Amino acid sequence: MADRSFLNWPFFEDRHRALAEQLNAWCAKNLPVDHHDVDAACRELVAKLGRDGWLKPTALDTNNPGPLDVRTLCLTRETLARHDGLADFAFAMQGLGTGALSLFGTPEQQQWLAKTRAGKAISAFALSEPRSGSDVANMEMTATRDGGDYLLSGEKTWISNGGIADLYVVFARTGEAPGAKGLSAFIVPAETKGLSTAERLEVIAPHPLARLCFENARVPSSALIGRPGDGFRIAMSVLDVFRSTVGAAALGFARRALDESIGRVAERKLFGAPMAELQMVQGHIADMALDVDAAALLVYRAAWTKDMGATRVTREAAMAKLFATDKAQEVIDKAVQLHGGDGVRKGHIVERLYREIRALRIYEGASDVQKVVIARQVMGAA
Ligand SMILES: Cc1cc2nc3c(=O)[nH]c(=O)nc-3n(C[C@H](O)[C@H](O)[C@H](O)COP(=O)(O)OP(=O)(O)OC[C@H]3O[C@@H](n4cnc5c(N)ncnc54)[C@H](O)[C@@H]3O)c2cc1C
Repeated sequence: MADRSFLNWPFFEDRHRALAEQLNAWCAKNLPVDHHDVDAACRELVAKLGRDGWLKPTALDTNNPGPLDVRTLCLTRETLARHDGLADFAFAMQGLGTGALSLFGTPEQQQWLAKTRAGKAISAFALSEPRSGSDVANMEMTATRDGGDYLLSGEKTWISNGGIADLYVVFARTGEAPGAKGLSAFIVPAETKGLSTAERLEVIAPHPLARLCFENARVPSSALIGRPGDGFRIAMSVLDVFRSTVGAAALGFARRALDESIGRVAERKLFGAPMAELQMVQGHIADMALDVDAAALLVYRAAWTKDMGATRVTREAAMAKLFATDKAQEVIDKAVQLHGGDGVRKGHIVERLYREIRALRIYEGASDVQKVVIARQVMGAA
């Protein structure tokens, strides 16, 4: 039986504990889905999660507005990731893709949210470009005024849900100032003329991913989110909410790897006794459990701090993301080792986790970038 004692931590309220148990039961019944066709699998997952109400926390409820509950987002991601990485992905993108609308959208723009929360529209967040990943301020894509409209031109790459999304939140240079201060954010519906999928990208843990091309894609000025020049601030505010949830997903993968390993070493006999009796094996299990608990503390500290009303949790979220993703990689590597040959066998759960964890140390700010952020925060505060 997986360790659930963390749910008793004071970071949570009873509604969170109830959600974690109910979602766990839902996952056991509904997941995993067939991943053979990732586009179809993601569409199915978004529809199912939406149908059963699990997508509601991903975006603002316009009938009952309030801040996004980061602890709910984290618990949901952790739970989904423990069962099926693609389900976590489908959930996470509904939040990341609409975060700018929840935080900064006009009532008209926020009309999209009823659809994304119900699983009836799929969303995407388009920030990265071929020459601007970690260095967001180097963005080249432009949005130029044309009468009452904007024309978007350039490329976005590594866009999750690229090719299957119904709406994209796109960041482009409007040029109010050089660098980061000259960017703006726009809502771009998928059917916008001039927007096309230039290339589908295949990665080691498959999910819908694409390079997008914008050729004078025309959007009305009502598509602008916030004010011209606010784009960088909007992107960073969205990441401030969602970054700790990446740590939560990593935590879900790590917990699954630990649970699988505990089961394996209890059942597998080596040298006439269960592996679990070998002290070096116990050492690995202890290291894994320690990393899982420490990651959970950082993730839920960041989520709780945000939910308690902190305007920014840059330091807490960066620490949670960095530690939880890096340590999950180590925990999963140990799980592969403890499984011996089975650990690298295609289709085995720990082989799948080994592939799934890797990208989390790169996207939404690579581990090195998180270190820079943490150092600036702690030195700035000293
Ligand atoms: C699976 C996946 C899904 C993604 N989904 C999305 C999405 O939905 N939307 C979106 O906009 N983007 C998305 N991305 C893009 C992602 O955010 C970028 O890949 C990431 O920001 C890194 O940018 P880059 O790939 O251009 O690498 P680069 O910016 O070239 O960086 C390469 C490496 O340099 C190191 N580095 C970077 N900065 C520093 C520094 N200051 N000091 C020291 N070392 C540093 C890091 O190790 C980094 O990995 C996704 C990427 C992946 C892999």
